[in-house]
Amino acid sequence: MIRLLEHEAKAILAARGFAVPRGALYQEHGALPGSGPFVVKAQVLSGGRGKAGGIRFAATPREIAEAAAAIGALTIGGQPVQSVYLEEKLDIAREFYLAAFVDRDRGCPVILASRFGGVDIEEVARDRIVECPLDPLAGLSGGVIETVLRAIEVEPAQTGAMRDAMIRLHDTLVSEDAELVEINPLVVTRSGALVAADAKIVLDEDAAFRHQGRRAIPEGTAFEEAARRYGVIGIELDGDIAAMMNGAGMTMATLDEITALGGSVRGLVELHGAMARGAEHVAKVIGLMRSLEPKVLLFNIYFQFRNLDTVAEAIALAVRDAAGRMPPIVVRMRGVKEAEARRILEAVDCFVTDDFATACRKAVAVSRELRGAA
Ligand code: GDP
Ligand code: MN
Repeated sequence: MIRLLEHEAKAILAARGFAVPRGALYQEHGALPGSGPFVVKAQVLSGGRGKAGGIRFAATPREIAEAAAAIGALTIGGQPVQSVYLEEKLDIAREFYLAAFVDRDRGCPVILASRFGGVDIEEVARDRIVECPLDPLAGLSGGVIETVLRAIEVEPAQTGAMRDAMIRLHDTLVSEDAELVEINPLVVTRSGALVAADAKIVLDEDAAFRHQGRRAIPEGTAFEEAARRYGVIGIELDGDIAAMMNGAGMTMATLDEITALGGSVRGLVELHGAMARGAEHVAKVIGLMRSLEPKVLLFNIYFQFRNLDTVAEAIALAVRDAAGRMPPIVVRMRGVKEAEARRILEAVDCFVTDDFATACRKAVAVSRELRGAA
């Protein structure tokens, strides 16, 4: 599940032909997206921004700066505001709710709409919402479109635009491999235009490979984000030991063992196939682990298909790159090319074993010692 911020979702909608307000991320002394007045909007992965003070109106540069500073400091629904988005304010005549999502239980896309938009759909009474499951093969039929148009009482002047919006909504869901595309409110302006005033898109991350051009969506810490860019899975915690494993099972087993021994984890890296990119690449990932400033680096690698010497080489490279600023290293290696790997590690100052429990015990013991010394 990859949740997009409002401005990211709107960029997708705009690319798919939806009308969206002119907008720009707020920057001090940055250009304004038009002549105003403006809406200043918290960019945060949480709904209910309006109620939480995350949506404000502003006209002058000074009002904008004040609103942006106040909104930028907010935490909404437990999430810190990531950025502030500035948009030309719409003159709203009506607000609709329009969404398409994949219903896993029913195994089909569903269109959800209401003529009572602008509030959380959970707060809208069931009988004020129209819900249309779609045939996954046939897609959006003319019959469904007409049912929705009637249910939400679209005025004749907007019927064509609303029909288009529904077709684009469904196209966006399918083509972007989204789990949810929600426009709330979908606004009719005083001049009669149909504009997406707010947007929420959730993408299916298992389909990310089908959208190579799409930039990675930041979520998680800087470390976790950097790990993602390296093609590995990184998890940041606040303990002492940074550990690299191969495979989700080994990663969980290592976390459990360290915790059971009374140790604590600073970070976890699951190689996730990034091994195949070679020793230089893995060395960079190790450098990233070092940036967490752990008390100990633990490698717990059991390879039945890949070669251990690649990881050994990566460790040697990372130690060289660190120029003396490397924490103590504990290595557990077992599997293909174990002897070659050991030979490489002979030149490196580290503890090597082929036993899982021994490695975890050693890492915990060293981290304790260093903690005691600190
Ligand atoms: P949410 O609270 O996180 O869903 O944020 P929205 O972007 O949906 O904004 C909440 C409400 O603020 C909307 O339903 C509108 O009533 C109002 N709003 C947002 N943008 C505008 C705008 O451009 N003009 C006006 N008049 N109201 C707006
Ligand atoms: Mn909204």
